[in-house]
Amino acid sequence: MFDLLHRPGEMRERSLEIVVPEPFGNAVIGVKAASVLDVDLRMESLHDGILVTADVEGVASGECGRCLIDIEQGVEVEIQELFAYSQDEAFEYEVQTDTIDLEPVIRDAVVLSLPFQPVCQEDCLGLCPQCGVRLLDNPGHEHEAPVDPRWAALAGLEGLGNDEPNDVAGTSTGATEEKR
Ligand SMILES: [Zn+2]
Ligand SMILES: [Zn+2]
Repeated sequence: MFDLLHRPGEMRERSLEIVVPEPFGNAVIGVKAASVLDVDLRMESLHDGILVTADVEGVASGECGRCLIDIEQGVEVEIQELFAYSQDEAFEYEVQTDTIDLEPVIRDAVVLSLPFQPVCQEDCLGLCPQCGVRLLDNPGHEHEAPVDPRWAALAGLEGLGNDEPNDVAGTSTGATEEKR
């Protein structure tokens, strides 16, 4: 790109494959280290710096936030940044000793594009709260409420002078959970 510097009007286009040096992502999903991002790069020489426009594509992997299966999803971001000659703080990025460092720009754009709660599909039903199976794999999945004959008998006593019906209900719920 050296022939671009300080030559306003000059322009270069290039396709690059960038190997990600460290994971680009958040706690639940990201582009893994050593995976490849395809970058279509366009560099334009302006009076105050190099304007970089890039289309970045890759694949992020992570875990569905509801049912916890491994997922992969495409990453596609567009970047446009001016790398300035000036060291003025007004410019976020600058040309450094005749080079530009694209990595932080690409990393920030990729990380920002990723969801904080990725899902395997929009209508993922998550896991059964009782037995933990993935509900999408088990359509119609349900549990019959186990009926303990002793509690059934007590329920029949309701309204017959039981002092604390609320307690009975509370205890019953606890017993149901223990017996699954
Ligand atoms: Zn899911
Ligand atoms: Zn279940």
